[in-house]
Amino acid sequence: MSSAFSPSRASNRFDATLAAHGVAPLSRRTPTTLQVNMGKLCNQACRHCHVDASPTRTELMDAATVERVLAVLEASPCIEHVDITGGAPEMNPRFRMLVDGVHARGRRITVRCNLTVLFEEGQDDLAEYYAAHDATIIASLPCYTAANTDTQRGSGAFGRSIAALLALNAVGYGDHQGAKAPSDGPAPRRLNLVYNPLGPSLPPPQASLEADYRERLRTDFNVVFDELLTITNMPIHRFADDLERQGKLGEYEQLLVDSFSPQTVQQVMCRDLVSVDWDGKLADCDFHQMLDIPLGAGAKSIFDVDDFATFAGSSITTAAHCLGCTAGQGSSCGGALDG
Ligand code: SF4
Ligand code: SF4
Repeated sequence: MSSAFSPSRASNRFDATLAAHGVAPLSRRTPTTLQVNMGKLCNQACRHCHVDASPTRTELMDAATVERVLAVLEASPCIEHVDITGGAPEMNPRFRMLVDGVHARGRRITVRCNLTVLFEEGQDDLAEYYAAHDATIIASLPCYTAANTDTQRGSGAFGRSIAALLALNAVGYGDHQGAKAPSDGPAPRRLNLVYNPLGPSLPPPQASLEADYRERLRTDFNVVFDELLTITNMPIHRFADDLERQGKLGEYEQLLVDSFSPQTVQQVMCRDLVSVDWDGKLADCDFHQMLDIPLGAGAKSIFDVDDFATFAGSSITTAAHCLGCTAGQGSSCGGALDG
């Protein structure tokens, strides 16, 4: 890895850590993934939520912004994959307009689904809708026991999550157990689960935890899934506030510095991804979007860009919490980077 970065140029703790390890600053490759945040409305209010989403939030992507996202997608053949998130993205009335539009343009779709949304009003056909659009589902399930999951996601969340997983299994989701998704082409009806730690620790090794989940969910509930993705909690928003209250925030930040893995830096998701917020604002990743950290490439909004390929080679704005992506096995929206 290049060591062109001088320590004297370090402007935050992440950049200083890169410099101390002789690693060059982050820069972009040609974007291949567009992440779209449909808004902050959610039927849950989880303790670790970095979006601060809840049932009382009103921020939602409007139709004009959805149309603009689809127009820029059409003009950007480099984007192979659209990753849709929220809040609970399904609670935005324009959600299916976006999914239909992405599907019609032949790009792969991933939806970050919180599972319990399948039981919200008007979502009765959601599992079938996903199946009909070959959407990959990525669903948080912080533990295979009710007590731990309910602690993080609210009382009763575990039982409703299991019922939702069974509904997805019933329409063909979760059948490729253990097999990796193809890097290109359709990846039909994949169901991946997400684990993130309850407290200020790094996730355990992804492969061994996946084996535990597979065994327990099959034995206890007859649930099947494809892959388990482990994600490190970012020390921002609700999770950071929680640590601050416990007096553990400094300790957690030091853990991320001490666990820095240089080999993860080439794989961090912002190298290949552009994130667009509910109001069209662009950012280098979902976390930065939540913190109003502007895109390193300069464009402020989806209305300022015509083709995402023009971002190739541009810089990425960094901050101290980027250390959450490079600690241990590394972490991204697709799970461990080095697992
Ligand atoms: S389900 Fe997801 S978006 Fe909703 S509050 Fe929980 S973590 Fe946040
Ligand atoms: S927090 Fe965002 S910008 Fe920072 S390393 Fe992670 S993905 Fe990249």
